[in-house]
Amino acid sequence: MFYFSKSKYCDFKQCPKIPWLKKYKPEEYVIDEETQARFTAGNEVGDLAMGLFGEYVEVTSYKSDGSLDLNRMKALTRQYLAEGRENICEASFDHQGLYCAVDILRKNGDGYDIYEVKSSASPDHYVYIVDTSYQKYVLQKCGLKVKNVFLVTIDTGYVFDGVLDLHRLFKITEVTSLVDEEMGTVEESLREAERVMSSKDEPAIDLSASCNQPYACAFFGYCTRNLPSPSVFHLYRLAYGKKLQLYQSGVYSYEDVLKSGVKLNELRRRQVEYALEDKGTYVDKVGIGGFLQTLSYPLYFLDFETVQPVIPRYIGTRPYQQIPVQYSLHILTEPNGTLEHREFLGRSEEDPRRALAERLTSDIPADVCVLAYNKGFECGRITELAEAFPDLAEHLLKIRDNIKDLLDPFQKGYYYNRDMGGSFSIKSVLPAIFPDDPKLNYHNLEGVHNGSEAMELFPRLKDMPADERAEAEHNLLKYCELDTFAMVKLYEELKRVS
Ligand code: SF4
Repeated sequence: MFYFSKSKYCDFKQCPKIPWLKKYKPEEYVIDEETQARFTAGNEVGDLAMGLFGEYVEVTSYKSDGSLDLNRMKALTRQYLAEGRENICEASFDHQGLYCAVDILRKNGDGYDIYEVKSSASPDHYVYIVDTSYQKYVLQKCGLKVKNVFLVTIDTGYVFDGVLDLHRLFKITEVTSLVDEEMGTVEESLREAERVMSSKDEPAIDLSASCNQPYACAFFGYCTRNLPSPSVFHLYRLAYGKKLQLYQSGVYSYEDVLKSGVKLNELRRRQVEYALEDKGTYVDKVGIGGFLQTLSYPLYFLDFETVQPVIPRYIGTRPYQQIPVQYSLHILTEPNGTLEHREFLGRSEEDPRRALAERLTSDIPADVCVLAYNKGFECGRITELAEAFPDLAEHLLKIRDNIKDLLDPFQKGYYYNRDMGGSFSIKSVLPAIFPDDPKLNYHNLEGVHNGSEAMELFPRLKDMPADERAEAEHNLLKYCELDTFAMVKLYEELKRVS
């Protein structure tokens, strides 16, 4: 029998090859940090939304091996339907191998409404309509009268005042008519899905806009495995649609890019030319000199780490707000002077912002030159701190206004070598310039190697035993320290070549 779930159905509607590859070549699935974070956020939000309409029953059940016990979930759903329960969460249905679980099934007179919960802030994704139309189809086949369909998304304008108000945190959007329009396509799509999934032959589907929407496909690496590397898909900051157009016109490699005569801006042209021929390091001394002239000693190299809770935890914050929890600061008082280091790591049991803002204003005088890498991020967080703590605002805003961006000379193309691969993030620039320095290698750090890992670790500190926590805090501090130490090294390199 043909078995399908709503996630497989959504995958199929994005691209028929996705569920086929998941079934026949699961080892090619590469999940990135962003996707993983989306899944985690989805679970947290789904659990919270269950209480949106007051009392509810939940059917989620597990087998002894930890996997979902679908038979028990379906049996419980039947039982709760028979009992006339108002709100059934994860209500589970199966029609001839077509399975789905409804986030919240809410009784409405002689029928039911479907509420699909998403951790996203926007209800305007076609995939949500695909998702809910499949649910409505399965429920109707199981004999249920489905009246209305709603999406439950996050209202990012909601400000937490100390007591979580689910009705303000969540935004409910009715999508019944959109779902009804889409319903006409479900049966045909399922027939086609059954044909694709029962064949051992990989669907002959080429790259398309679907590879990048609604999310970057986890099989993109697999589907581009036969392209030259680097390929047209590595071009610096070119919209995916433009890259696809070039690909579809037969432009694959960087040689093809040059031969095609396509117009390239200066940065992309350098990226292509340096990839084709190792020309060493490109240095624009005038550009770098001009940038360095805007700086003055003492120099403060600053980097924040943040958390971004979907469900706000601290008074005055909004869903998805970036909350600074940690910083590293290297200080260079004079050319070739001794490097000082200061750092701050908040306690994850409490709102860390006040303590962080106080330490920041004590560590950084109001009138010194501060360097950040991609300063928009640090400036944004400092502006939010100033809004939250008016008594510190004047000093904080002066720090913000004194920040210069160390990314600028790289992003403006004043310094380039082929190993940067067209990326100017510090994680690309640093190893490209200092490939053999183990002290500058993020892979050599223990436990925390990137911002996503730091973001995931910080909220868990409060639940750790003391020794585990001490080690995790040490790892967080070392990670953030490397970010600002890296900035110092990049600054020195710019000085050396200028
Ligand atoms: S990368 Fe594109 S073609 Fe390959 S499975 Fe994903 S969506 Fe389909």
